[in-house]
Amino acid sequence: MAKMIDGKLVSKKITEWVAREVKDMTDAGHRKPFLGVILIGDNPASKIYVGRKETACREVGFDTTTIRFDEDVPEDEVIQQIREFNNNPNVDGILVQLPLPEHMDFLRVFNELSPHKDIDGLTPHSQGLLALNRAHHIPCTPKGIIKLIKAIDFEMKGVHAAVVGRSALVGSPIAKLLTHHHATVTTVHSRTKNPWEFTSTADLLVVAAGVPKLVDEKWVKKDAVVIDVGIHRVDDKICGDVDFDRVKEKASWITPVPGGVGPMTIAALLTNCFNAYKTHVS
Ligand code: NAD
Repeated sequence: MAKMIDGKLVSKKITEWVAREVKDMTDAGHRKPFLGVILIGDNPASKIYVGRKETACREVGFDTTTIRFDEDVPEDEVIQQIREFNNNPNVDGILVQLPLPEHMDFLRVFNELSPHKDIDGLTPHSQGLLALNRAHHIPCTPKGIIKLIKAIDFEMKGVHAAVVGRSALVGSPIAKLLTHHHATVTTVHSRTKNPWEFTSTADLLVVAAGVPKLVDEKWVKKDAVVIDVGIHRVDDKICGDVDFDRVKEKASWITPVPGGVGPMTIAALLTNCFNAYKTHVS
């Protein structure tokens, strides 16, 4: 029976550290850190995520503002807002909530973000630095996953790690990070034939497929560490991309959903924004 990797507990320690650091800085006479958020459209999940991020910012003593646009806003208006945040010396981090509406060009919009304020690590510049293992800001979910793996003292060096999914947000950056931590990494995706043949030999399995309960025990090596990034509401219950009840019997460690990767994403956002702030005020 697998042990739980408690993302709530690990993230709490991180957010408490950020709160203490913010207090030390403001006690010393500095302004508070500031996160500028851009939310476009009415996507219910995006609204929930942005709400959680706003709450988390306030809890650790950041100031934050969310600029909301209608779904059909012209791309140039969003770019104008990004430029205002870029040029405002009191804004430390900028978050443009994904997904963008279909009429927008991801590259054009994200290319406008100042790399120093790109606390999600999603601009082409940031992604290039990540590929070179020189990232200023590591994308939040992959950064949170690495913290969870370290929290259980799992040695990444030399192990076989498998990643399910290759998105720019999660799959691709976590595969790069695991390689930088000296794991041998296999990526499987929606076009992989029999993906379980690859994942079932992995000591560490990270699943970011966006398909509820896709991964069952057939995909998992005995005693593997399993990190489930997915989050879904099915029949009014929350589940991940991993069939938790079946996989927990085979894995050595597993993240629950909710309470695993989700809170770590927010903790990583706070640390990235705080790090940007430190470079701006000192
Ligand atoms: P995405 O849809 O952009 O990418 C999914 C990836 O999974 C693709 O590369 C696709 O090829 C692969 N895939 C799809 N079906 C597959 C299959 N049957 N077999 C193998 N690979 C398959 O999604 P994403 O943005 O990477 O997010 C993945 C999941 O993680 C979603 O459920 C999302 O809601 C969740 N998520 C959670 C957090 C968090 O903080 N907890 C953050 C980001 C994303």
